[in-house]
Amino acid sequence: MTNLVQVLKAADAVARWHVHQRRKGAAQEPYVNHLLEVAALVAEATDGTDVDLILAALLHDAIEDQEVPRDLIAQTWGEVVARTVEELTDDKSLPKAERKRRQVESAAGKSDRAKLIKLADKTSNLRAVAASAAPDWSVSRRLAYVAWAREVVAGLRGVSPWLEAKFDEAATRAESSIQP
Ligand code: ZN
Repeated sequence: MTNLVQVLKAADAVARWHVHQRRKGAAQEPYVNHLLEVAALVAEATDGTDVDLILAALLHDAIEDQEVPRDLIAQTWGEVVARTVEELTDDKSLPKAERKRRQVESAAGKSDRAKLIKLADKTSNLRAVAASAAPDWSVSRRLAYVAWAREVVAGLRGVSPWLEAKFDEAATRAESSIQP
């Protein structure tokens, strides 16, 4: 398969797999918008030179949110992509607070591909907090989310100054969307 075919095949698959999933914000955007935003950010950060990175970005929530079998990803897009997606999959059997703590703790030990995707993921999520926060999120919950994202990202720095700047911009905007 050419790179372009592989990428479009992944975009098509995730659009179908996440078809009934919406983002948490009041705008209830289709979830695929988030996946495409994350993939576009990592692609731009690396000038489109790493197809496995772009594929893993499109697929990053497939195991965690849609329980797509890891083997299906490995068979279709290869072992490197499957391993990266696995690195980005939280253990949902753990309580939420523990999962969040582990994200902070494990960030620095991730592979460079996983770090780039996590940076883009947090950037996309903070943009959403500023543009369309979840209706049931209080101000303190939104502020706590931004603070936690900053903590995770502290462990991810050093892989892409461009993407780190995008994250910083999104974090500042999310905070200023809340400030009086
Ligand atoms: Zn995500």
